[in-house]
Amino acid sequence: MSAPAPQPDPPEQRSVATLRGVGPALAEKLAKLGVTQVQDLLFVLPSRYEDRTHVSGIGTLRHGVRAVVEGEIQLAEVAYRRRRQLLCRIADGTGSLTLRFFYFSAAQQAGLKRGTRLRCFGEVRRGPLGLEIVHPEYRFIGAPGSEAEPLDEVLTPIYPTTEGVPQTRLRALIELAMRSLLDGATARAGVRDWIPADMLARLELPSLVEALTMMHRPPRDADLGELLSGRHPAQRRLAFEELLAHQLSLLQIRQVIKSDPAEPLRDAAGVEPKLLDSLPFALTGAQTRALAEVDRDLVADRPMVRLVQGDVGCGKTVVAAAAAARAVGSGLQAALMAPTELLAEQHAKNFEGWFRPLGIPVALVTGSLPARARRSALESIANGDIKVVIGTHALFQESVDFARLGLVIVDEQHRFGVQQRLSLREKGARAGKFPHQLIMTATPIPRTLAMTAYADLDVSVIDELPPGRTPVRTTVFPQSRRSEIVARVHAKIAEGRQAYWVCPLIEESEELRYQAAEETAQALAEALPDVQVGIVHGRMPAKEKERGMYAFKDGRIGLLVATTVIEVGVDVPNATLMVIENAERMGLAQLHQLRGRVGRGAHGSDCVLLYGEPLSEMARERLRAIRETNDGFVIARRDLELRGPGELLGTRQTGLAEMRVADLMRDSDLLPAVQAAADALLKHNPDTVVALTRRWIVHGERYGRVG
Ligand code: ADP
Ligand code: MG
Repeated sequence: MSAPAPQPDPPEQRSVATLRGVGPALAEKLAKLGVTQVQDLLFVLPSRYEDRTHVSGIGTLRHGVRAVVEGEIQLAEVAYRRRRQLLCRIADGTGSLTLRFFYFSAAQQAGLKRGTRLRCFGEVRRGPLGLEIVHPEYRFIGAPGSEAEPLDEVLTPIYPTTEGVPQTRLRALIELAMRSLLDGATARAGVRDWIPADMLARLELPSLVEALTMMHRPPRDADLGELLSGRHPAQRRLAFEELLAHQLSLLQIRQVIKSDPAEPLRDAAGVEPKLLDSLPFALTGAQTRALAEVDRDLVADRPMVRLVQGDVGCGKTVVAAAAAARAVGSGLQAALMAPTELLAEQHAKNFEGWFRPLGIPVALVTGSLPARARRSALESIANGDIKVVIGTHALFQESVDFARLGLVIVDEQHRFGVQQRLSLREKGARAGKFPHQLIMTATPIPRTLAMTAYADLDVSVIDELPPGRTPVRTTVFPQSRRSEIVARVHAKIAEGRQAYWVCPLIEESEELRYQAAEETAQALAEALPDVQVGIVHGRMPAKEKERGMYAFKDGRIGLLVATTVIEVGVDVPNATLMVIENAERMGLAQLHQLRGRVGRGAHGSDCVLLYGEPLSEMARERLRAIRETNDGFVIARRDLELRGPGELLGTRQTGLAEMRVADLMRDSDLLPAVQAAADALLKHNPDTVVALTRRWIVHGERYGRVG
């Protein structure tokens, strides 16, 4: 593969401040958008388009449409209805329309007089005088038949709005950048296409100039449906480039971390085998394989950066504990970081159970530790008396000082960003040695996707559950049979078990979502007077939320009503029933995570999915998929197949990076090519690597910068 030879200081790197009309104030606002160079403007991409390429008859307008109309002013008057306002009535022979201005200058008023012809654009709404446009964009035009003002030739791009940069201003600036892109030879005036032509040809993707032109100036007959769904070849071309940039950036982080020296963890004291021998169970084949990969990394003199990926309940914690034992057996400390206090405490309890019998103390450090206990814990961590430390973010505050940290374990990786992991690495650095990193996540994603999403990590997969688990039975019911399900909850709790009830997902407003949870809890408490009903939702203060979770864990609460906050890692083996309302609105990955909260004990468990009718074909397929399998990887693959354009589940839910054009799921077919291109570029074209990461990864999140 060949790429163009690098050029010195290409014009695309000119500062935006060199554009006409961009002063320091605007430049500063643009910088907040990640726009500092002229080329950056080209990569601010429209979120939608408006069609201003034809004139609509006024008689054809409806409430809510945005349209261009032409007409003659019949009447113009200043009216006083609560506020002073200028009203113009225009007509075109098919109908009439009111233009309403609240702000207008004397000159404007003088221009808008009876008999004048206008072309205007704006959103049509129903007003007190019939259809109207408030503050239309307008311009004067000649009499019908006189030389016509040309209409827009291309669809009008609408950019994501940003604090202090008005849409029209941003559009004009981007248009300027486009002009400099298209004027003259691209090599001189425009932006470099870093993707080699032969590669583009092979992938059947357009050139950068073609793609950007389509995005910023789509022709009248462009396929808007395709553009809005993000599947237009122009977007695929840009998505390819963006994915490549992310991949390169992560691979660079990896290089940085991997070039640090680390202490090999040889476990001279043999603590790891002792811990494994003391377990009441044997590791599964998958756990053994993952641990072997971890151990192989840990004895090296470069830091491990390994992700252990495995479905809920597959037993990741004990693998982490074995790795921690290896650190202790090598005379070093291990720290485990969990995303919530509850999870940290749960881990601390498990680790205590494993390490205490071996004479190895375990400390828990969370924000809510009483001052004295905290001080003494910190002391023992600093002087090295304590070898195994469990905690939340609190662990990585300034005040926590490790004597010799050999291993950092992060549970539920997607709650922590790449930046946080990089800062961990600094935290543990001692005498030029950096700690090994083990990251655990329960978000199963298919292999090709993982290779891009986690390009900075080595990945081990635990794809097997411990034996003796009865798989969760999943059943699907219409919402109309809710009362039967309530009876089932009652029966379960009467047997001494516990249940979760997950509330309907309401996208419209956060507020409504909490209200729905409160109302559901109340209704269930009334329907089940002898059951202790608790509630947790995201709006509650963390403390209160955890109190609710504790009460459930301790069995003081029989039925826990929750929003989706219970997703992460909490282990309540006695909970054997999970009811999920409006399951048809949730993504497969999320349903699977929720279902993973049950089926953790000896008793058989059930998951009941309630759905509202009517059910779309896509939703029906999704519910079938979740009912038919308990395997997270199969579900992740189905998710990928079933996701159509406009589907609810965004990458946010899987904890993957947010991107501008690309969507890891939607564009997953591009990934093998992205991965191959990234490897080749890293080997042969360092300039391309720098330019592409500069172009796509905005400052704050530019990983390569750190380290
Ligand atoms: P997760 O991977 O979701 O973090 P955990 O590590 O919490 O899962 O493990 C779930 C449960 O399975 C724990 O109670 C753990 O002790 C138990 N467990 C782990 N490995 C095995 C095994 N090989 N055999 C039997 N039980 C196991
Ligand atoms: Mg876990």
